[in-house]
Amino acid sequence: MAEKELKTPLLDELENGPWPSFVREIKKSAAKNAMARETLGQLERSYEDRISHWKHGGLVGVMGYGGGVIGRYSDLPEEFPEVAEFHTYRVNQPSGWFYTSEALRTICDIWEKHGSGLTNMHGSTGDIILLGSKTEALEPCFADLTEAGWDLGGSGSDVRTPSCCVGPGRCEWACYDTLAACYDITQTYQDELHRPMFPYKYKFKFAGCPNDCVAAIARSDMSIIGTWKDSIQIDQDEVRAYAASGVDIEAEVVELCPTGCISWDGEKLVIDNSECVKCMHCINVLPKALAPGKERGATILIGAKAPIVGGALLSSVFVPFIEMEPPFEEIKELAEAIWDVWGEYGKNRERVGEFIQRVGLGNFLEEIGLEPVPEMIAHPRTNPYIFFDEELEEDEDE
Ligand code: SF4
Ligand code: SF4
Repeated sequence: MAEKELKTPLLDELENGPWPSFVREIKKSAAKNAMARETLGQLERSYEDRISHWKHGGLVGVMGYGGGVIGRYSDLPEEFPEVAEFHTYRVNQPSGWFYTSEALRTICDIWEKHGSGLTNMHGSTGDIILLGSKTEALEPCFADLTEAGWDLGGSGSDVRTPSCCVGPGRCEWACYDTLAACYDITQTYQDELHRPMFPYKYKFKFAGCPNDCVAAIARSDMSIIGTWKDSIQIDQDEVRAYAASGVDIEAEVVELCPTGCISWDGEKLVIDNSECVKCMHCINVLPKALAPGKERGATILIGAKAPIVGGALLSSVFVPFIEMEPPFEEIKELAEAIWDVWGEYGKNRERVGEFIQRVGLGNFLEEIGLEPVPEMIAHPRTNPYIFFDEELEEDEDE
């Protein structure tokens, strides 16, 4: 029987305009894959009905793993039987998303063999997302993936697949080896990654400098952001060359420094480094002239999350500066101390940032055995939210 012609007038609208269209890409897959074709059909229905026709439900996974596959079903299974089951795999991406073409071809071949052929490169956690697998295809697809050297990432209440910026692989601002740290943490916490054991998800993100290209500060329970301790490196000849080429150093650099710690007399740029908050602005504007200092490491921040159960949170400083050398013991000790407390007292689906807000930062620090430091503040240069013990204050008064 000839296939009924699929009409998608609403989706077709999305192919108009100057931008690349996901509809055009799905249509390419739909020409050779029935699941991709019915994805288009169901999506058109969603646009008509103004409601998603995907639903969660049921536990799906592969043998030995608790996470890594997300169950997805159509609520119109009679109409779109090919996508009645449309589960999503999360596949652990390589650190910094570096691939060989051969690796990409391999994963695409496996996915065309077992699933819809549709991918999302990458999901917001960082994984390669393979969209649309039938339940019966899960194990054979997983077997082919592992045979080719791939592994699943995290999903559910576990360590989510750690991710990092390209760091020293391509970027001169990297204050530590983000790729090595991300890989090390991924390998160390394989058990926590594959077997959900926490109140909710726990994300590690590694950014090489405060530009934070992985948005660690907004999205990860544990943000490890590169920074430096000493002075910003300045090449005065290059600063003068920027000025000569038309860059308005006063307006574009000096006046936009958030702490007003830069001065420029037309010949020499001076930075009062004791007032620098490492925002990266001056370095980003004058990349040939300025660079982070030489004494490099990272700041650990805890508690970011997107607005799902409660509102959005940015992560807060816990450890102002650590050196980032393998085997990254300080990060592991802190993470495990946090898991002990949050694992014991956290509520179901409560992120660690929300847990800290509920129990209070002072109590939390006491439980995990971390000393309060002045950098632990709610808002820069305003109100410290650590309260010292009354006895200590009284002792000081005596
Ligand atoms: Fe480079 Fe910093 Fe971005 Fe990492 S976060 S890629 S080190 S600019
Ligand atoms: Fe000012 Fe930011 Fe440059 Fe520091 S990094 S000197 S705070 S602009």
